[in-house]
Amino acid sequence: MPTAANFRVLNASRADIEKLNLSLDYLERSAHNAMPVLRTMQESGVKISIIHDGNDRYDSRTHTIYWDPDSALAVRSNYGGGVEGIQSAALGLLHEGAHATDPWYAEHRREPNATYGTDAEAYAINIENSVAEDLGEPQRHNHDHAGLPESSNPTTHTNDNNYWEQRTPWGTTEIGDRWDGGAPDYTPEYGSGGCVEVSSHLPGGLKAGDVIVGDKLELSDQASLAPGIGSVSFSKRKMADGYRIATESGITLVCSSSAPIPTPDGLVVAPKLLGLKVPVRIDTDDGPIMRWELIVAVDAVGRISVQHITVGDKCFWAGERSGAYILHHNLKDEPGGDGRPWDWWNWLTYPDTAALHEMPTAHVTQESHTIEIIGSPASNIGIGEIFR
Ligand SMILES: [Zn+2]
Repeated sequence: MPTAANFRVLNASRADIEKLNLSLDYLERSAHNAMPVLRTMQESGVKISIIHDGNDRYDSRTHTIYWDPDSALAVRSNYGGGVEGIQSAALGLLHEGAHATDPWYAEHRREPNATYGTDAEAYAINIENSVAEDLGEPQRHNHDHAGLPESSNPTTHTNDNNYWEQRTPWGTTEIGDRWDGGAPDYTPEYGSGGCVEVSSHLPGGLKAGDVIVGDKLELSDQASLAPGIGSVSFSKRKMADGYRIATESGITLVCSSSAPIPTPDGLVVAPKLLGLKVPVRIDTDDGPIMRWELIVAVDAVGRISVQHITVGDKCFWAGERSGAYILHHNLKDEPGGDGRPWDWWNWLTYPDTAALHEMPTAHVTQESHTIEIIGSPASNIGIGEIFR
C-alpha cells in the first residue's frame, strides 16, 4: 500500500503530506483500477510536487506530477455545459498518475481526440472513470471542467445520489448535505466542526441542544485551563458519527467523530484519544476543580444528533452528566482564519500517524523549480495539460 513515504514529495507542508496519505488510502480502495497505477507510479520513481493553484499537470521531462490537494473538479456534461457533480482532488492525483504511467504518453499527446482533446487525455480519463466508478464519484465525459471547488479534504466529492461524501483521516466515510447542483467555490461544512451530543450538559444548567446565539458559556484555555466567559456566535444541530469518551474517574462525553479535544500535545479527534490526557472539570460545593485525566475508553455509538457551537476564543466544557465535564475545542478563529469549519488540517494532531513521523526527511524536500511555458503545441510534447 503506497503512502507518501513511497514517493519523492516536493514543496509539501505537513498538512499536504497528511492529505496525500489520505488520498492514497482513499484511492487504494479501488483495488483493480487505482492500485496498478499507484504501484507503477511508485516503481517508476515519479515525483509529486505540491501546488496550490489548482493547475494539476504532469511533466514527462522531469517525471513530475504537480498536484493541488485542495482542488476538486466540477465535472461538466456534454449537453449544454451543465455541471454533473464534483470529483475529488484525490482523483486528480490519480488522473495525473495515469498520464505518468501511460507507456505511450508522447505518442498519445500528439494524437488529437474529438472527445477528450488528445489520446493522452482519453487514456487518462478512461482510467480515471474506472476509478471514479469504484469510488462512487461522477464520471467525466470530456476534458472540460466547470470550476475547481476548494476543499480542505482531498476526498470530498459528490456521490451517485448527489450527496457530498468524504473519507476522514480516521477511516470513516461521512455523508453530507445534498449537493445543490451548482459549482460552489468551496465544499460545504458537514460532519465536522467538532460537535457534542445535543443532550450534553454544560456548566450553568444548559444542555448543548438548547444553546442559542447570544448565550454566555463558561470556557477554559486549552493549555493553561484558565477560565473565561464567551458569547455564543453560532449554534446549529446536525447529524454525525458519535463517540463516547470516558476518563479514568468516569467522566464521559458523547461527541462527533471529528470533535477536537485538547491534549498536552495538541488537539486530537475523539476516536484517537485512548491513552491520552484531556482536561476535565468537576463542580464541587467549593467551586470547580480542573485537572488532566487519562482517557480509558473510546466507543463508537452510531449516528447521533450533535450541536455545533462556536463561542468566544477558548474551549467550552460539556459532559454526559451535570457537574462533570470534558473540555471541547471551539473552532472559531483557528489557523486558516477564514471561518471554514473544515480547515482543521494545519492544527489537528494525529498521534498515531506513524508513517508521518517515521518518514525519512529526505522524502520531503523544499525545492524551487521553474515551470517552463512553451508556446506552440508542436513543442508542447512532454508537458502535461492545464487543469488535469
Ligand atoms: Zn490530463
